[in-house]
Amino acid sequence: MLLDTLHLDASNPADVQRAATLLAAGKLVAIPTETVYGLAARAFMPSAIEEIFRVKGRPMDNPLIVHCATASDIELVATDIPIVAWRLLERFAPGPLTLVLHRHPRVPSIVSAGLPSVAVRIPALEVTRRLIALAGEPVVAPSANQSGRPSPTRAEHVLEDLGGSIAAILDAGPCAIGIESTVLNLTAEPATIVRPGAIEAADLAEILGYEPPLASHSGTGAPIAPGMKYRHYAPRTPVFLTDSLETIPTGALVLTTAPVESDRIRARLLTRQTLYDEFRRADREQVPAIYVLITPDVRADRALMNRIEKAAVSAQRTDNTPPMC
Ligand code: AMP
Ligand code: MG
Repeated sequence: MLLDTLHLDASNPADVQRAATLLAAGKLVAIPTETVYGLAARAFMPSAIEEIFRVKGRPMDNPLIVHCATASDIELVATDIPIVAWRLLERFAPGPLTLVLHRHPRVPSIVSAGLPSVAVRIPALEVTRRLIALAGEPVVAPSANQSGRPSPTRAEHVLEDLGGSIAAILDAGPCAIGIESTVLNLTAEPATIVRPGAIEAADLAEILGYEPPLASHSGTGAPIAPGMKYRHYAPRTPVFLTDSLETIPTGALVLTTAPVESDRIRARLLTRQTLYDEFRRADREQVPAIYVLITPDVRADRALMNRIEKAAVSAQRTDNTPPMC
């Protein structure tokens, strides 16, 4: 059924209340966060969560992140929370750090794709925390895109993928960070990074006392690290990595952090904030290929490299691996 997706304004308190009322009624609402737009539903309402998997086309074995209004609300969804979690929250919450903890029995298992754990974070935008508080319970909020497509960093990206399938979007303009949160697993020692993101391993080391390693994928059962099992972050346009402008064919689009003078190729600025927007723009403009220039600064940005590499691998795959994210 096609819905008339409401386009609500985050700077208008009446619109925020309207979004909260829809959420409370079990509807799906796309919400702004500092990372990317999320597709929110009540975390304790399995029917609403099923609907999220359906409209995104998301595989049921890919767990969702629960978003809370305050750090203390984490106790509503997790148990046996280690002291180090509170210390990390003190330093990084609200913000782009997601913690994987032991799931509280009251959280429906569909949230975590059947895993005994739960991923949780507190978004940085004040209006988003206010919205969650008004909705009356934590919300799950995976990225508000069709599975496998680049994550949405602007309201129009959400409408492009999910317009007509969700009740509303609360528009707060472009996302400040533009890539997803760092996901840190605290259910085993040492803590491991399930997904590199906006917060660096070196920053986490200040609290943990060590730099958390990247989690390795077990290869069986539910995915522990995103993108290893599924297609991810990919535009329809093929994505290639290159370290030289020479190899780029005429007419192609190059994404680069350094200015490029060329009549032969089109260059656009690459940052965490622009990556997904440029991927989507390339699809709309039907450019033949996207080349990402891997300069040392890009290589040094683990989170950005992670998204670029996954998009490149996905775009060049010919098998039927199902999409994720
Ligand atoms: P997305 O909602 O698209 O930002 O993706 C959320 C990601 O968080 C998933 O793909 C998982 O990698 C990670 N995640 C969520 N819940 C868990 C969990 N319980 N254990 C491990 N990773 C999780
Ligand atoms: Mg996603």
